[in-house]
Amino acid sequence: MSVEESFLRCTACEQDAEHEVVYAGRFVSQIRCTGCGAVTRLDVSEDYLPDLRQRISSKPRRLMRRLRRDPGELASSLPERTLSKPLRMAQEFRTVWRSRQDG
Ligand SMILES: [Zn+2]
Repeated sequence: MSVEESFLRCTACEQDAEHEVVYAGRFVSQIRCTGCGAVTRLDVSEDYLPDLRQRISSKPRRLMRRLRRDPGELASSLPERTLSKPLRMAQEFRTVWRSRQDG
């Protein structure tokens, strides 16, 4: 999950203002106007969840391919990847889940 600043016209206060754009993976899940604080949530779960499933299911195959190619390189990068990736995915999933419940 990542947040980017973007200069947009707010649909609530109709001012041009900085907006915080929250991404869940490749998809925009939330836009917040820093001028009036209005939050727009987008239900990205229809697009996002299949994408997340695909990313999870394709992971072992990618790891096996890398293991065959360069076992040493994989071993050195594995601890960081196995720890940080599921955590990032869990944060992304929570964002999507919230947007679905509130929507
Ligand atoms: Zn606004």
